[in-house]
Amino acid sequence: MALQLHDSLTRSLRLLKPSQPDGVYRFYNCGPTVYAASHIGNFRSFVVNDIIRRMLELEFGADKVRHVRNLTDVDDKTIRRAREEGRSLHDVTTEWTAKFHADCEELNCLPPHVEPAATDHITEQVNMIQVLMDKGNAYRAADGSVYFKVSSFDHYGRLSRVKERELKQGTAFEAGNTGKDTQSVDADEKEDGTDFALWKAWKPEDGAVKWTGPDGAAAGRPGWHIECSAMSKKHLGETIDLHTGGVDLLFPHHENEIAQSECCNDTTFAHHWYHSEHLLVDGKKMSKSLGNLYTLDQLKEMGHSPMALRYVLLAGHPRKQLNFLLASLVAAEKALQTLRGFAASIAGQSGDPTKLDPVFNALSDDLNTPAALGALFSIIKQGPADVDAATFERVMFALGLDLTPPPPAAAVEVPAAVTALAERRWAAKQAKDWAAADALRAEITAAGWTMKDRPDGYDLEPAANRP
Ligand code: AMP
Ligand code: ZN
Repeated sequence: MALQLHDSLTRSLRLLKPSQPDGVYRFYNCGPTVYAASHIGNFRSFVVNDIIRRMLELEFGADKVRHVRNLTDVDDKTIRRAREEGRSLHDVTTEWTAKFHADCEELNCLPPHVEPAATDHITEQVNMIQVLMDKGNAYRAADGSVYFKVSSFDHYGRLSRVKERELKQGTAFEAGNTGKDTQSVDADEKEDGTDFALWKAWKPEDGAVKWTGPDGAAAGRPGWHIECSAMSKKHLGETIDLHTGGVDLLFPHHENEIAQSECCNDTTFAHHWYHSEHLLVDGKKMSKSLGNLYTLDQLKEMGHSPMALRYVLLAGHPRKQLNFLLASLVAAEKALQTLRGFAASIAGQSGDPTKLDPVFNALSDDLNTPAALGALFSIIKQGPADVDAATFERVMFALGLDLTPPPPAAAVEVPAAVTALAERRWAAKQAKDWAAADALRAEITAAGWTMKDRPDGYDLEPAANRP
């Protein structure tokens, strides 16, 4: 098995292998911003990264993989949330970090070996900024913020090809404005519109959030990009083997990380860059700002299991957009039942360990999860003969599918309004007023319930695709 993944820098499939003599594979995955519950789009990226982690363990051995995933616990969004709720930043980020951990556990994502928080690494960030200022890659603006001078790094844009795009489109790129962190000062504080903030001078809306900055800079807080450069360096060293995140992080976040790290350390930052695609709803990226999101809790309230969600998230090719449909959770639950039945039918059986090779081959070929599931189900279709139970378990480990049956979902209480509609429909049916009965059924369906008629009455069930 030779594990290959697409590399966004060279735009080619490349073999994964440790670059350092200790044989340890160094893997950094940009983690969540902890100011609210992560939505299932965020979890698509964390599930994909969990499969990478698992495949690395199978390839190199569990003790030869070092997986770091950070927590973004200071940025515009976390600060705004704390201000709006009249709470301390720490209070807010602690609450949402705990929620993130609980969701990860339910989705069977292995915890990273190190989970550094940005606010615990202010010194490391300030030190890096200091080096960049001393070397002439960064400068202090009038308000005491510090900016990275993009023109000082010749390789800027290699990952995103942003300069080629700029030439083609005739518009200047903006490396500072990102989803997480917007510019703290007017653009005219910067020497050039493309420069981005490393350190942001304190503003009244930051409240109690401030630290001492690099020499000559104002008190303030780090920019989002330097957080990852500093935490990666601290926990994995100056050069890492793999850096990952969702496609939205490729520019400017990862481009800026490369610029900061390589100018500071004078060496290659990451050998391999991998970006997973977005989860969509009705053709649009699922995001907190669009409000078109589902959380794991919402899906659980509808009676769906976390494992069914994991299955749905891994059933699409990680580098292709995936449109989320509630109905796919029902199909996923059925697939899990098939896997449970099959696992039971081969329990304790030894067989041909190569029989499941097509599954591992698909996963090793750029994490082709749909092909892996296709191969798995075609083997299952042939029956249990000669399938090796231990190898099947390795397949479940790679996919992170926990086949323990979920506890029965708590009975969902029928809202009084829905019961009232059902009573009216039952009466209309008795009176043979079919038009009224149909109209009432439509109302019940719209409320997310299914009315099933029995000869002597009816049952109300939550609809599988309840909004
Ligand atoms: P955040 O908590 O916003 O920092 O995002 C955490 C991770 O989720 C990042 O790797 C993002 O690229 C990724 N992400 C955000 N939205 C989506 C989405 N709709 N589908 C897949 N991944 C996403
Ligand atoms: Zn990052």
